[in-house]
Amino acid sequence: MKIAMLARNPKLYSHQRLKEAAEARGHSLEILNTLRCTVNIASHRPTITYNGETLTGFDAVIPRIGASITNYGLAVLRQFEMGGVWPLNESVAIGRSRDKLRSMQILAKHGIGLPLTAYANDPKQAEELVKAVNGPPVVIKLLEGTQGIGVVLAETAKGAASIIEAFRGANVNILVQEFIKEAGGADIRCLVVGGKVVAAMKRQGAEGEFRSNLHRGGSAQLIKITPEERSTAVRAAKHMGLNVCGVDLLRSNHGPVIMEVNSSPGLEGIENATGKDIAGQIIEFMEANAKAGRTKTKGKG
Ligand code: ADP
Repeated sequence: MKIAMLARNPKLYSHQRLKEAAEARGHSLEILNTLRCTVNIASHRPTITYNGETLTGFDAVIPRIGASITNYGLAVLRQFEMGGVWPLNESVAIGRSRDKLRSMQILAKHGIGLPLTAYANDPKQAEELVKAVNGPPVVIKLLEGTQGIGVVLAETAKGAASIIEAFRGANVNILVQEFIKEAGGADIRCLVVGGKVVAAMKRQGAEGEFRSNLHRGGSAQLIKITPEERSTAVRAAKHMGLNVCGVDLLRSNHGPVIMEVNSSPGLEGIENATGKDIAGQIIEFMEANAKAGRTKTKGKG
């Protein structure tokens, strides 16, 4: 296969591992800087140029689009899709997963476990929001946050009201969520490839920290997940429409609840914690599934 990868930093561990794994299996993989791709819109002839040359002949594309360039990255990916190139994750599915509220609405519709969550535009409704999720305490999070930034624990109703007011004053959108205390500052990352959980790790937040993000000083270790956790992760990936994703779960006393579904999961933490060749499994999934014109969404918005 001739594979394109849309990524900004070719040196990142995950990008290097996917390239190595593809080449080890006899494929070529070219890392294209997403922002240097030019989208040429012409009736019946969608093309992409890169450094002045028209891209042709790719069988598959691996989108690794950073959250800060989602819109442009998805436009480039749609252009590949319209040209019949098979995407590892489709643009529509990535678009869904990048919107926390939209993702939670989709998962809720399919009966997948979630923390009680409320959303409102008006800061005057703070009290109501806190009550709606059986708080205090509550977790308040920025809709557009990543890596645990903008995720705040409010222990009291007053504290929650002032945080909600401050966030809304800064004109950002927030969710208010039931605090899953019993998770003990840990979460579980399940790596799903082609409808199967191929690896799972537990991330534990640093001492005194309720957020388990590795970027916030958390540590990772191998974990055995329960059948219910496994099926929750698989169903979440399926309903989001993602072939490859990281599904983050918390162990709550009402079963596994989903925190987030990440369409460009990092491979370093999970490969190191589990000793598994995830990059190889992703390429094998592509070998079995990448066929020109097999994009379901054909670049639909
Ligand atoms: P981000 O997308 O920025 O990583 P998350 O929503 O995944 O934000 O939250 C970051 C971390 O904070 C989670 O991995 C989890 O450890 C902790 N956390 C988030 N929401 C809750 C909650 N409702 N209850 C308990 N812990 C939470």
